[in-house]
Amino acid sequence: MTTPYKHEPFTDFTQEQEQQAFQEALKQVQNVMGNKYPLVIDGEKVTTDEKIVSINPANKEEVVGEVSKATQEHAERAIEAAATAFETWRYTTAEERAHILMRAAAIVRRKKHYFSALLVKEAGKPWKEADADTAEAIDFMEYYARQMMELAPGKEILSREGESNRYIYTPTGVTVVISPWNFLFAIMAGTTVAPLVTGNTVVLKPASATPVIAAQFVEVLEQAGVPKGVINFVPGSGGEVGDYLVEHPKTSIITFTGSRDVGTRIIEKAAKVQPGQQHLKQVIAEMGGKDTVVVDEDADIELAADAIAVSAFGFAGQKCSAGSRAVVHEKVYDAVLQRVIEITESRITAAPESADVYMGPVIDQASFDKIADYIEVGKEEGKLVSGGSSDNSKGFFIQPTIFADLSPTSRLMQEEIFGPVLGFSKVSSFEEAIDVANNTEYGLTGAVITKNRDHIEYAKQRFHVGNLYFNRNCTGAIVGYHPFGGFKMSGTDSKAGGPDYLQLHMLAKTVSEMY
Ligand code: NAD
Repeated sequence: MTTPYKHEPFTDFTQEQEQQAFQEALKQVQNVMGNKYPLVIDGEKVTTDEKIVSINPANKEEVVGEVSKATQEHAERAIEAAATAFETWRYTTAEERAHILMRAAAIVRRKKHYFSALLVKEAGKPWKEADADTAEAIDFMEYYARQMMELAPGKEILSREGESNRYIYTPTGVTVVISPWNFLFAIMAGTTVAPLVTGNTVVLKPASATPVIAAQFVEVLEQAGVPKGVINFVPGSGGEVGDYLVEHPKTSIITFTGSRDVGTRIIEKAAKVQPGQQHLKQVIAEMGGKDTVVVDEDADIELAADAIAVSAFGFAGQKCSAGSRAVVHEKVYDAVLQRVIEITESRITAAPESADVYMGPVIDQASFDKIADYIEVGKEEGKLVSGGSSDNSKGFFIQPTIFADLSPTSRLMQEEIFGPVLGFSKVSSFEEAIDVANNTEYGLTGAVITKNRDHIEYAKQRFHVGNLYFNRNCTGAIVGYHPFGGFKMSGTDSKAGGPDYLQLHMLAKTVSEMY
């Protein structure tokens, strides 16, 4: 009998012994820095001459690992291997597959700090953020394993006299997984194990900035018992390998998490039926966000300021759920703004070498440049009230930056910056606040800080986001508790970590027998 799902607890880094244990884990990771990782195709380790070099964004000189880089020819072999393996994997039992996920979760849990320390190195995550990323990866495995066992018998439907009707779920086929660098462990693992546990085979292409954690996770899956060909690992260029995988006639599902532009392009490409293709491709696409924290006139100032600061600057604002917009009622605007500035300026931005570092670097030079450009735009559009400086001499560091008095239609309030840049707009009513919150093309997350019950009800109906939170921050969704996915241009609202997610990877089959 399996125990009920419960999310993985977070580490309490105020405890001295946890800090020591994490320092130990960082030392262990130091021993694997610069290691080389192969592609995995049909269970075979394939080493290429060309490599993707993963570096520590807090220290550009430090190479985290060198990962073999796949070409289209490797992508072709990976799809063929996945297509062949599908013919046996699809007939394994749900229980067998679920147990593999539980074993993989146990392997990761035993080395939890080690994996989190690797995320600190590969993505520059502060310890708390890295710990949450690993916990979420474990949660996806535990949650989907149980969910699959529940779904295995199918769903109840009606049968007439003399008839036996069943409604069951069957696997779909070869699944291409394209993952982002920001939740380099959780999203990569979650979008990989969901197709696996539902009986599909996988070709995984991780983000080029963070391929090492993906390579190590593939090893975990192999140890846990995923057979050859069922998981294939082909890191490579999005344009070259990504497009090839998406367009392949044998690809059945594409599960993508990343930017709006790449996601919409994938949807378009996947819609085109290729010669020899005998099915329509399914696309799960979870994309960008421009998320808002709304503060009502009666709000608790401390709660509001804390929610805004956490939402904006957790992992340097590099979350699709980041609350990069604060829309505040004029009666409390100055007080909330002032308090957010104080909180932000009291926190440490540095290389995440100790537990007290709140914000680390941004991921790479391209992000650094893009964010620095947005800071210049912000100086034109609003009033710079905190931060604004940047330094890429050692790593890609940008101070948490706050702009006040922005027009709700300014670029800073409309475009996803994906960095530690927060914009404030002032409104004169709650209704106006919700209108402003809805005025972007995105609809991923949002938060409302209010004591007014009518306003809560109003926002529940009219604030159009996939994940709406009251009196808290708009980041930090937990698997099984806050199923996650967005409306509008934020994606297909797949609700990862929710009760309907696995069905997206399966075909429902009605079987009707007369007797
Ligand atoms: P990205 O779109 O640049 O890359 C995502 C993945 O797509 C990478 O693996 C990349 O190599 C691949 N890719 C790039 N071009 C491709 C192509 N032509 N064909 C196929 N694949 C291609 O995004 P990113 O910078 O890795 O991640 C940041 C973005 O992800 C942000 O917009 C963020 O909001 C979004 N995101 C969304 C969610 C969500 O759940 N909605 C979660 C995390 C991140």
